[in-house]
Amino acid sequence: MDEGRIRRLVLTAVAGAGEGSYLPVGVSARHVHLSEADFHLLFGKEGQLHKEKDISQPGQFAAKEKVTLQGRKGSIENVRILGPFRKETQVEISLTDSFLLGEKDTPVRLSGDLEGTPGLTLVGPAGTLRIPKGLIIAERHAHFSESQAAVYGVKDGQKVSVRIEGKRPGTLEAVICRVGAGHELELHIDTDEANAFGLANGSLAELVTEAGPRMVPQKNLSADARKVLSPGTKPPEMPPVAVPAPPRKEESPRNSIPREKVLDLVTEAEIRAAFKNNERKIYCSKKALITPAAADAAAAGDMEIVRLPEVETKKRDINW
Ligand SMILES: [Zn+2]
Repeated sequence: MDEGRIRRLVLTAVAGAGEGSYLPVGVSARHVHLSEADFHLLFGKEGQLHKEKDISQPGQFAAKEKVTLQGRKGSIENVRILGPFRKETQVEISLTDSFLLGEKDTPVRLSGDLEGTPGLTLVGPAGTLRIPKGLIIAERHAHFSESQAAVYGVKDGQKVSVRIEGKRPGTLEAVICRVGAGHELELHIDTDEANAFGLANGSLAELVTEAGPRMVPQKNLSADARKVLSPGTKPPEMPPVAVPAPPRKEESPRNSIPREKVLDLVTEAEIRAAFKNNERKIYCSKKALITPAAADAAAAGDMEIVRLPEVETKKRDINW
């Protein structure tokens, strides 16, 4: 397992535990996506795209091949090609680059939204190509798989803010969430934005949404399971937290639950074990992490996962 994947898994678990919704930062340096036809115009008929290394988004890679960008006023050499080939050629630069090139009218756009964008000249070892459109400054965005989006509580197309701490702290607003297969947890900003906030690849930014993080993916769950699992909703059959006179033991099962029975992490294994023992309820602490598989298993077995808001979750130590 590569380090990026480990970090994404840990960050998603931290978010699921309600301890902060952090995103790993990916800084996009200027780069080019090429159509296959355009690649061969620049690198010759026999030219081939060679992988230098994988990048965080599944299937995408940085290629060994580079091109020169030629603008109205200046040029930038050694601009990396990202593979695989795309339908349309697209050049992503920073605002600073747009000044160097003399292309001040370059718009801020999401990747792939190229209608009405300016063109540019690309120079490769075997040819020069003038593209009629495709020059953009990438709009800041964050990638999520379906399950990561469920944990972070975001939807495709939603705009969120991210908070950055450190020596140059601040908040980046209007970060567009891109959710779906082929996306992996990462905040994508360009070099201008990264430098403004003192960020580098692998830095952390905290997602800020009004709703806050969700504990588990909610779809595919029964209505009852959803009620139990949704944060902020008190589980059924539970007296209010602040009871003036505590009820006697036999009236409140919660008072007789030993701490070791209250889980900080609920996985499918716990649900299956409890099911075998004919237990209908599993108790967990205030900010316990309930894995999606556990929630599904509980819903399938008609079991209840009862969150006890008065029992604090033991702190997990996470060092970066
Ligand atoms: Zn991206």
